[in-house]
Amino acid sequence: MSTGIFFHYQEGERLKDFPQALQGILEKEEVFFYDALYPSKPESLFDLPPIPIKAICRVHSPEMVERVKRTGVYEAALYSAAGTYSAALKVWSGEITNAFVFTGYGDHHAGSHFFGGGCYLNGAAIAIRELMTRNLAGRFAVIDTDVHHGDGSWELFEKDSNVLYLCFCSGPNEERNHNVNIHVPYTISDDNYLILVRGALQDYVRAFRPEMIFWNWGYDGTVGEYGDMELTPSFHFHLAKMITKVAWELCKRRLIVVLCGGSRRDLAFLLIPKIIRILTGE
Ligand SMILES: [Zn+2]
Ligand SMILES: [Zn+2]
Repeated sequence: MSTGIFFHYQEGERLKDFPQALQGILEKEEVFFYDALYPSKPESLFDLPPIPIKAICRVHSPEMVERVKRTGVYEAALYSAAGTYSAALKVWSGEITNAFVFTGYGDHHAGSHFFGGGCYLNGAAIAIRELMTRNLAGRFAVIDTDVHHGDGSWELFEKDSNVLYLCFCSGPNEERNHNVNIHVPYTISDDNYLILVRGALQDYVRAFRPEMIFWNWGYDGTVGEYGDMELTPSFHFHLAKMITKVAWELCKRRLIVVLCGGSRRDLAFLLIPKIIRILTGE
């Protein structure tokens, strides 16, 4: 049992306390820290290889990739996607059991021809396509509990019956070819949200029997965040326990947590280390 942490350099406020805030976790024998090869940082033992452009273009059109190149954050978007991509390959090979990916410029608003909302490349979709192309894994679940609807992921996975995409957002309940939208009211209690998740895990994820689970985890619905749904910080810990348990039972604990929305530095400091501790089995 081991956990990989995929970390890339990121500008901006919310991750300023990282990786220092992971003190006490990084020292654990079964925790691996995969640092990105980024020009402004010294090289570490665990440099991530650059993500092959071929892998990106299996998901995003070359024309869209050209547009992302002109945004000024292309390199950062590449590292975001590379973290998820490498995490998936290492989890599948058994090098690590599960993973937490720090991202800044992915994931769920990036579709085949469009991007927006701070998402430039869809790391989970790129990783899934790669594993499928290599004939490694065949069935995946992507659980999206960011406040916002994952329009990019929805579009990318809708045509793929080997991917269950389970999105919790304010949009209406909907189900189409293993794309499932679960309606969440604009404000909701921790308990009521957890009841929705428990039901959907039972009805959809357990029934689908994925070989690997991606969790697009955003904390933008927490009290005081830009997508405030009145959720408390402890909501995220209960959610993490629920999802790790399902990954444990269904797919040999193969779970990749992809950090999505949320902007507050204090919440990142409070939530992220504890989520990683849950992944390590604490
Ligand atoms: Zn949605
Ligand atoms: Zn969001």
